[in-house]
Amino acid sequence: MRLCRFAEDRIGLVYGEEVRDATAALTALPGHRYPLPHHDPLIANLPDLRVSLEAAAKSAPPIPLDAVHLISPIANPGKIVAAPVNYKKHLEEARADAAIHHQKQVEEIQKIGLFLKAPSSVVGPSEGIPLRHADRRTDHEIELAVVIGRRADRVAKEHAAAHVAGYCIGLDITVRGPEERSLRKSIDGYTVLGPWLVTADEVPHPDDLDLTLTVNGETRQQANTRDLLIGIAELIAFASSFYTLLPGDVLLTGTPAGVGPIQPGDVLDAAISGIGRMQVRVRSLSPLAGRGLG
Ligand code: MN
Repeated sequence: MRLCRFAEDRIGLVYGEEVRDATAALTALPGHRYPLPHHDPLIANLPDLRVSLEAAAKSAPPIPLDAVHLISPIANPGKIVAAPVNYKKHLEEARADAAIHHQKQVEEIQKIGLFLKAPSSVVGPSEGIPLRHADRRTDHEIELAVVIGRRADRVAKEHAAAHVAGYCIGLDITVRGPEERSLRKSIDGYTVLGPWLVTADEVPHPDDLDLTLTVNGETRQQANTRDLLIGIAELIAFASSFYTLLPGDVLLTGTPAGVGPIQPGDVLDAAISGIGRMQVRVRSLSPLAGRGLG
């Protein structure tokens, strides 16, 4: 199943080049009152909702995909756990380029571990990336995003797959500089998830997916998830040894070589085989209305 969110919080199922609105099925979700849960209620209930989502979509008219405004397929990720350097060639390029490493030690993921991105940084492909520090080098990073479906607390690598709801494309947009990763990567709009969630049953080999990112038509990143230093199952085990992972939590698995700067006006085209493809525009952050201009 390919689940998207579009327009004003509509849920859709994607069939080929069309979307069908399945929002009606959400009435079956438990109503939450304060205090709200730390997980995403739709992802937590997805196995139970599949039949009614498909039934709702069946009776909805098809909408062409290119006519819909795609927002993040995960509405409420509790946390975004990200792998900093998880492809050998990216490790090599980061070590070789001072504009990437900024005199900080760049080490393999086994030594430096993981970091967190703020859930408030998440946007969908149609929202675009608003550059907040346009004067500083800001890079694209395409990554396979793994969405957790079932609570995972200290799971073994062998059992990790059972905790995955599905996959989407992730862009880990990064301001280069000396500050902590989580500051530089948690800016509003700097985590793009999309174009939709493909449920795990449709991705039998997540450790063999091609990733491609182009900027204005020029290929910048091209890799395959088989080259991950720590593969997906091991990454889930590693992350869940620190944090209890909850439904809707997102694991960004790390970016391959080829990272490079983006500018307002650029169009990123990101694709992962078996998942999909999305175009994302880079723009300037609009100024705050009425501030300091008298
Ligand atoms: Mn990254």
